[in-house]
Amino acid sequence: MKEKPGFATLAIHAGQEPDPLTGAVAVPIYPTSTYVQQGIGENKGYEYSRASNPTRTRLEENLAALEAGVAARVFASGMAAIHALVSMLKSGDHLVCGNDLYGGTPRLFNQVMSGFGLEFSYIDTTRAENVEKAIRKNTRVVYVETPTNPLMRLSDLTAISEICRRKKVRLVVDNTFMSPYFQQPLAMGADLVVHSTTKFLNGHSDGLGGVVVCGTQEHADKLAFLQKASGAILSPFECFLVLRGVKTLAARMEIHDRNGRAVADFLNGHKKVQSVLYPGLIDHPEHALAKRQMSGFGSMITFETGSLKNANKMLKKVHLCSFGESLGGVETLISHPATMTHGGLGEKKRREIGITDGMVRISVGIENIDDILEDLDQALNAM
Ligand SMILES: *Cc1c(COP(=O)(O)O)cnc(C)c1O
Repeated sequence: MKEKPGFATLAIHAGQEPDPLTGAVAVPIYPTSTYVQQGIGENKGYEYSRASNPTRTRLEENLAALEAGVAARVFASGMAAIHALVSMLKSGDHLVCGNDLYGGTPRLFNQVMSGFGLEFSYIDTTRAENVEKAIRKNTRVVYVETPTNPLMRLSDLTAISEICRRKKVRLVVDNTFMSPYFQQPLAMGADLVVHSTTKFLNGHSDGLGGVVVCGTQEHADKLAFLQKASGAILSPFECFLVLRGVKTLAARMEIHDRNGRAVADFLNGHKKVQSVLYPGLIDHPEHALAKRQMSGFGSMITFETGSLKNANKMLKKVHLCSFGESLGGVETLISHPATMTHGGLGEKKRREIGITDGMVRISVGIENIDDILEDLDQALNAM
């Protein structure tokens, strides 16, 4: 490979070199728990598969290359990755978090980690000055998702990372919605990047996984230790699935983005839709930031149907779009945040941050756009 290969090339080749033993083009799955050692303290770099496994090594090399990090560590799910990440902290440490995160993240923070003495503040990170105000003496991490889920608001990563650097606080970005193809948080000054590989990185809705990509070797070593110490690692079979899925990431994201723009425009002009949240629309509050910070707008869209009843009517009528949790698959997935991903927040919290009962979220897939639009149109007209 040349010195600076393009993104699509990296996705297909980084960590995915042909197998040196056989020439196999696809990375082999190594379903082994242990490894024969040559003598005391002599081995081929692998001792036990909780600590490391060759298929996992290849995936970690690949994802580190795509996010331009020093190293990556993969876990059994996105939540396991986030759990490992906050396990690097100590009792009494404080985190400043966005107030519109993936629902599972505040559930982990508030219902599990707060029992171990971690403290959390949830703020509107769309204004960088709010982050500065929320940082305390014991703040160790600023935890941001951009765009957010499901309100599609953006935070300025360059501005926030500048504040974090000044205050000596680590910036962690959950980059699941954009994938490294459209957004590169480490290049904008973030310290660590998290993904649920379950979503766009795998892309085929056939396996769970999570990754933390590290900007420093120190964090990479700590997380490798946590893989070994607590063991929530990704299995070699699932690593293979992500390695296979990620080969088409660039191609898929291009179509996701094209279809996403078309669906957002369609919904925006539809008489049954009250409003559309999508960073690619010129009336989106952070549209200018979106153009600066991301190289595409992606395929996540939230729109307002007006009521729970309307949302339910439409969701019962979709045929091509699959009504279910999750996102980022090749198939169009459609969901209802208030009762699904954000049900656990409670009505009061939802109202506070602006998640309504009529909101529907769509993860636009890579099917033919005419088929997606036709399905949405007939379902909306049934409302
Ligand atoms: C799905 C998701 C997670 C959690 O990942 P799992 O693989 O489901 O555990 C975290 N963050 C975001 C933004 C997600 O969409």
